[in-house]
Amino acid sequence: MSFSSLNLHPALLTNIETLGYKVATPIQAQAITVAMQGKDVLGIAKTGSGKTASYALPILNTRLKKVSIKRDRQPKVLILLPTRELAVQVEQVFKDLSKNFPISIKTMAVYGGVSINPQMKALYGVDILIATPGRLLDLKRSNAVELIKVETLVLDEADKMLNLGFEKEMEEIFDLLPKQRQNLLYSATLTDQLTGLNKVLLNDPTIVKIEENLEDDSLINLSGYFVSESKKGPLLRHLINDLKMNQVLVFTSSGHKADKVAGKLNKNGIEALAIHGKKSQSARTNALAQFKSGKLRVLVGTDLISRGIDINELPYVINYELPRSPKDFVHRIGRTGRANKEGIAITFVTREETHHFKVILKKMKRYIDMIDSEEMEF
Ligand code: ADP
Ligand code: MG
Repeated sequence: MSFSSLNLHPALLTNIETLGYKVATPIQAQAITVAMQGKDVLGIAKTGSGKTASYALPILNTRLKKVSIKRDRQPKVLILLPTRELAVQVEQVFKDLSKNFPISIKTMAVYGGVSINPQMKALYGVDILIATPGRLLDLKRSNAVELIKVETLVLDEADKMLNLGFEKEMEEIFDLLPKQRQNLLYSATLTDQLTGLNKVLLNDPTIVKIEENLEDDSLINLSGYFVSESKKGPLLRHLINDLKMNQVLVFTSSGHKADKVAGKLNKNGIEALAIHGKKSQSARTNALAQFKSGKLRVLVGTDLISRGIDINELPYVINYELPRSPKDFVHRIGRTGRANKEGIAITFVTREETHHFKVILKKMKRYIDMIDSEEMEF
């Protein structure tokens, strides 16, 4: 579907064209119309299918029609997401989509790990607030922001936001919001979180679910290697060199392991940085920025960056260690094969993990012919 048939403000259409989007993706085609009517939306579509614009466009379209002259600390739109990196990325999408608007709409991202004072000052006049939960609550406690005027709430990576790790903070935030509001929830994976959903989606939501077909699936080419723990390092280096990988995202299960793997790569002349929750925010920002711009060959990270992070045409993902859940697997490999581009995802599996890996693949309805690294020379 073309964007011009969606009834969007001309300023938005111009910016969409500048971004190079030709047609709306299925989730955009369906969710934008519903959200523009002010209804609640539960949007489910695979990772990389353009969910950000599917809420950003209706939100900006509505804001364009509501000229507010009053500047205060009461955002009209609140977008909650699980990581600082995702907050920054979504802020950029909003900025790109609101260039040269006839009225000024202020979008701002707030997140932890950086000093709070500049955020407190900058919040004055904010219309659209993008936030991670912890920092948002800190800002609220300091009276830097009020949430009573929120008209639209977005939960990006909704299942993650409603899971146990975030539950308490989310409840606290929901209590600060007006009961009458529009709720937009988006996720690639949504299975058994329905009890949590009831708390948020009060108003008979329209469920927009884009089913995947097998053809879509083949955008990510999956392969797997049986490899012992001690051979993982050499196999990783072999694959990076042999396949001449210029940009590869490697996943480990812990920050400690990410540091080790990155260190070993550097020792062997392959430039790598690690990214995980124990790093300083400046180190995280720097590593991701370098990687996104193509200057850094290897980024080794934890599931911190498995959710939502969009790296333009990333060709390779390697699971150095298996994630615990099939859901995490889906999000990790979904960093490649985005926006209709193909990608390759390689997974390392020890013999003891064979069953666990089979369970993951079965859940995904995928099959892999495993390669035995014992029979390889490297
Ligand atoms: P999701 O949130 O579903 O994982 P994103 O919103 O991050 O996906 O979008 C994935 C990529 O697709 C981004 O690089 C984005 O710029 C691009 N994209 C989004 N919508 C379109 C479109 N209509 N046409 C082309 N590319 C698009
Ligand atoms: Mg997303």
